[in-house]
Amino acid sequence: MGNPIPPAQDPRFPQAPVWETELRLLAPHVYAFVQAGGPGKNNVSVSNAGMIEGPDYLVAVDATEGPIPAQRFISDSKKATGKSFGRMVNTHHHGDHVDGNQFFLPAEIISHPYCRTECVKAAQAQANNPNQRTFAAHEGVALGTEPRKLAVQNTTIEDNFVQYVGDTRVEWIYAGPAHTWGDLMAYLPQHKILFAGDVAFFWVAPFAQNGHISKWIETCDRILGMDVDTIVPGHGPIGGKKDLAEMADYFRVLTVEARKRYQQKMSAGAAAADIRMGRFDNWIGPERIVMDTARLYDEWNGSLIPDVNVGGIREATLEYNEAKMKAAARK
Ligand SMILES: [Zn+2]
Repeated sequence: MGNPIPPAQDPRFPQAPVWETELRLLAPHVYAFVQAGGPGKNNVSVSNAGMIEGPDYLVAVDATEGPIPAQRFISDSKKATGKSFGRMVNTHHHGDHVDGNQFFLPAEIISHPYCRTECVKAAQAQANNPNQRTFAAHEGVALGTEPRKLAVQNTTIEDNFVQYVGDTRVEWIYAGPAHTWGDLMAYLPQHKILFAGDVAFFWVAPFAQNGHISKWIETCDRILGMDVDTIVPGHGPIGGKKDLAEMADYFRVLTVEARKRYQQKMSAGAAAADIRMGRFDNWIGPERIVMDTARLYDEWNGSLIPDVNVGGIREATLEYNEAKMKAAARK
């Protein structure tokens, strides 16, 4: 279908920063594994993860997107603690958070049931397609020769649950539907740290193809009411409540602008091409406005389901690119 033409940057506002890959100690026994991003970096399918050190083994928050980052996360963690991973919790089913699962075995792998159901489908699709039995070559992610077999979760938890990792209390919070119908976040009240998974995107346009945007905004408001100082987002540099409020504003601005055009019977794609997002046009991946607008339209016309609306996004992308090209020709 072709990708959406990225909207122009807005010179009135600052550019996104550049951030580097690091395993960062946030509090005793608590680390974030952040992957580089920002202008000029590879930002495709690059996600953040977390690690909590227990007396005997490590607990991971997400597995990254492939063999190279997963192995770096594992070896950096070993270097920092001398320990191996015994548990993995996936915040949701997207490949950039679960495709590294297989490298953490024999760790127990935990998720929300919706996440597991989607991973079972993905594992089945991989098994049925010989081309998917190795990782695709992708700079910094995979050489292209590594055998690929998605490790599906063996434990599911429907609602909030608490783990003690040594002395660290980890409250797993069901946050969905927001980014997906299966979102889990890890809240560490002693340290006021939240691993938000893809409920949080900082300096990166939020990706809503499986999302419920109006409930996602409510989830952000709930987090803003929590005792949290540090938020590790699924994408982007480590931040805090201010950054999460900014991301919620992206959706608030988009909701107001898209709603006007929805009421004028403008198509989702034409609306996305017509809307200017101001400072958010300078975030990484501004063309996600197309899928996000299409998702809002689904919410308003009553057709929203947990799955991706592939046909709706394809149609919106065509309309969007056509409107962008027409506007460029008029200049
Ligand atoms: Zn995601």
